[in-house]
Amino acid sequence: EFGLMDDPAEVEVATACARSGSRKPQGLPSVRDFAFTATLGEGSYSEVKRATYLRTGQEFAVKVLDKAFLKRKGKMSTALDEKNALVRLSSGHPGIVRLHHAFHDQYQLYFVIDLVPNGEMQTLLSRIGSLSVTCARYYSAQIVDALAFMHAKNVVHRDLKPENLLLDENFRIKICDFGTAKILEPGAESDQTFVGTAQYVSPEMIQKNETSFSVDFWALGCIIYQMIAGRFAFQGLSAYITMEKIKKVEYAFPEGFDEEAKDLVQKLLVREPTVRLGAGAPGTPYGMHTLRSHPFFSVIEWETLWNGSVPRLQ
Ligand code: ATP
Repeated sequence: EFGLMDDPAEVEVATACARSGSRKPQGLPSVRDFAFTATLGEGSYSEVKRATYLRTGQEFAVKVLDKAFLKRKGKMSTALDEKNALVRLSSGHPGIVRLHHAFHDQYQLYFVIDLVPNGEMQTLLSRIGSLSVTCARYYSAQIVDALAFMHAKNVVHRDLKPENLLLDENFRIKICDFGTAKILEPGAESDQTFVGTAQYVSPEMIQKNETSFSVDFWALGCIIYQMIAGRFAFQGLSAYITMEKIKKVEYAFPEGFDEEAKDLVQKLLVREPTVRLGAGAPGTPYGMHTLRSHPFFSVIEWETLWNGSVPRLQ
């Protein structure tokens, strides 16, 4: 029997929720406390369902993972990594989905997370093609702010892409899917598993299976490019060709691409991970501070990023 929930994590989540002011549940919840209403999405190893928590009437997204399937695919530890990353982040950031409860029964694991009602950034991009520079700037700033929090908790996401950027009730971003996330403690050995999605994967991940916080900044560069250009920065006829282009950092900007955005993307899509903007140690020329103060973000008010007005989508 896989004792996923026999560790102290549930206690940690409850404590984190209590700290941030939300109500502490009376006793641990179980699947009987939820009424499942719709399917929100399906992943390779999970199904995400909309559900009402019967004790409070509050709505959540519940990620359901099948134990036997995970075992067969050798993915139990991945599920545990996902939960551990979510627990790490459960003190809460407006740009990251929060885990409220994690429990299991004989057959399944359940992660109860914030319901994010307005779908994926990818769907929005497919619908409207590309975003205005104002919108792209706003969403990029939200990703940067969420990454700063995530990385400060030593969590690297490793699969940032528009499918994993959900839009909340006000059309602000919430990063989801920590299924490939990793906790990178300082001084610990680098993880050597290849993960990610072809178009957003970094050269060092392709060449050396090397993970660091910097892989999220590479993906950020790809996402900013895509939001403005309306197409992938790197795309070949196959995943192999796409990755060959990535290894050579072979991409081109379309005519008229905003100059400041271009400068930022060029400073993110850098082969050497340590000199990617945002990835350097605090206070260094490549630190988070330099990323936040890049000219592309000069009009961004970081203090009101999560409660100020949201630019009209266009
Ligand atoms: P993949 O195999 O694609 O990586 P996954 O198994 O890791 O997927 P998620 O990406 O976490 O699963 O979720 C699958 C989909 O379910 C998401 O892309 C999204 O459309 C939907 N979804 C996930 N979390 C939420 C949420 N909190 N609120 C609303 N919808 C969600």
